Amino acid sequence: MPDVEPETDEPDDIEMTTAPAEDAGCFVPTLPTRLLDEAAQLAARINPVNAPYTQNAIPEGGPMISELAVLVSKYWGRRRRTLTVSFTETTANDLKQRILGHMNAWNIGVRFALTNGVGQVRISRAGQGYWSYLGTDVLLIPQNRPTMNLQGFTMSISEAEFRRVVRHETGHTLGFPHEHLRRALIDRLDVAKTIAYFRDTYGWSEAQTRSNVLTPLEERSIMASAVTDQDSVMCYHLPGRITKNGQPIRGGPDISAIDRAFARRIYPTGFWPFFDETTTWDESEDVSLEDALALAQA
Ligand SMILES: [Zn+2]
Repeated sequence: MPDVEPETDEPDDIEMTTAPAEDAGCFVPTLPTRLLDEAAQLAARINPVNAPYTQNAIPEGGPMISELAVLVSKYWGRRRRTLTVSFTETTANDLKQRILGHMNAWNIGVRFALTNGVGQVRISRAGQGYWSYLGTDVLLIPQNRPTMNLQGFTMSISEAEFRRVVRHETGHTLGFPHEHLRRALIDRLDVAKTIAYFRDTYGWSEAQTRSNVLTPLEERSIMASAVTDQDSVMCYHLPGRITKNGQPIRGGPDISAIDRAFARRIYPTGFWPFFDETTTWDESEDVSLEDALALAQA
């Protein structure tokens, strides 16, 4: 059925012309360079666990923080939280609820809730392609702009596409990068064929393909499952004709068992007793260094 549908400009038909294997066009937009320092500081403030990655990643005589910020984890932290979600176009309630259901299919300590106001996560269906900003970066996007795009999504799109696309883009919002950027998977790609494939299929320049597909994640900058998972919902499908051994990188149609175990480990659904809201406090209540030293001498 999808193959014989003529191409039209109607949003309902977008899915018809997009074969599942062609999702490789998903990209993670990056913030303007001027905001990278702010993004690093924000990520560290939201979750102090993010800060050591900055420091660990500074090589001797290395780059300034602006160049390092892209390495900083965008993790939301262990504290259970709700992120509000709104839509930038008028969207029927059944479609909103369906998208929300797939966002919450991760079933972890970060939950998504619809708001009638302006959400922290803002979804458009009008832009080009499927994409989402990464983790805490979404808070730095101007309020009148989307943080996620689900081009042409309607109720007529199959459940399998909702699983594959909405759950994948939500993974980016949760701070998960593309799994195929793990070095073990990139090492399987033939560089020249990969550049040609993305040029011919998506019109990407060599530089775009090198940065989006061929540059491995800095291992120190990420928290990741120990196993590289080509069935991850965060992994592109990449065809066998661009790999060195002719075997495709499968790409996941849904949150994999490894995805789920990893997501639950870093975003537990229950409160960790130590990080419970009853045992943490507002910054205004912090004990100053002077007071702590005075207590030590008392
Ligand atoms: Zn993606």
